[in-house]
Amino acid sequence: MRVIVPIKQVPETNAVKMDEETGTMIREGIEAIINPLDLYAIEIAIRLRELRSAGAETAGTVAVSMGPPKAITALREALAMGIDSAVLISDKAFAGSDTWATSYVLAAAIRRIGEYDLVICGERATDGDTGQVGPGIASWLNLPVVTYVGKIDQITEKTCRVHRLGEEGYEVLEVQLPAVLTVVKEIADPRLPTLRGKQKAKRAAIPTWTPGDLEVETGKLGLDGSPTRVVKIFRPKVARECRKVAALDEEAVHSAVDQLVAFLQEKELI
Ligand SMILES: Cc1cc2nc3c(=O)[nH]c(=O)nc-3n(C[C@H](O)[C@H](O)[C@H](O)COP(=O)(O)OP(=O)(O)OC[C@H]3O[C@@H](n4cnc5c(N)ncnc54)[C@H](O)[C@@H]3O)c2cc1C
Repeated sequence: MRVIVPIKQVPETNAVKMDEETGTMIREGIEAIINPLDLYAIEIAIRLRELRSAGAETAGTVAVSMGPPKAITALREALAMGIDSAVLISDKAFAGSDTWATSYVLAAAIRRIGEYDLVICGERATDGDTGQVGPGIASWLNLPVVTYVGKIDQITEKTCRVHRLGEEGYEVLEVQLPAVLTVVKEIADPRLPTLRGKQKAKRAAIPTWTPGDLEVETGKLGLDGSPTRVVKIFRPKVARECRKVAALDEEAVHSAVDQLVAFLQEKELI
């Protein structure tokens, strides 16, 4: 069982600040961490390897991240948790990629990593928050994808049976391998890195791949290669209109009800 886990480094805070002029994220001065939702992907990848791979030659888990050089710390954290190896994809040419270009590059990296049974992504990144990259990777690799996976209840060499969480319950789906899954919190509780894991991660050699290491067209990379652009970004202003109606006796209550009904009708709510 060989599992590839794309992980993203994100700002530590939930209160992501945006530059309203340029429409990009202000990353300066903010601590960066592994996207918290990717920890679940890492955990299930490690469990699958432990469960299915004893002695297998191609066994292993690989974490891959596209980002600035400092994203290497997220990869070391994944190694400390128990991921076997890691690759950083980093170059100025990748900067400003939208989800289309990001998934294009990650798919090229996955092709280069080679043989694999599963690609497991987090449900979404807590900064960009689109949830598009996992399905995007599947599309570039022409693989089946299941999103919102909360449980893997059976896995063989050729198929995997999963529970996909929906708003009103879950669907049980069987998917051919290799496949891409995006997973939700219910999948497994992430373990804490051990001291031994941290020491191993500190020493691990992590290669950095640039466009020259991947089969990619340069016109499809970075801000210039991205078909989508943030044209405007702003915090919506929430304004509430309040109207008080005093109703201290029965007659006033009747009048208040009439006023309420008229108001709702005027707003076309009833
Ligand atoms: C319309 C649009 C325009 C954008 N324009 C810009 C822009 O102009 N400049 C800019 O800087 N950014 C821009 N972004 C943000 C940028 O595209 C995203 O940060 C990036 O593509 C990842 O998308 P996401 O954060 O929504 O990840 P999601 O799709 O929410 O992430 C899902 C999962 O995919 C994996 N994943 C996501 N990103 C990575 C990664 N980099 N490496 C490894 N795994 C990953 C992880 O497993 C993650 O849990 C734009 C986004 C959109 C939607």
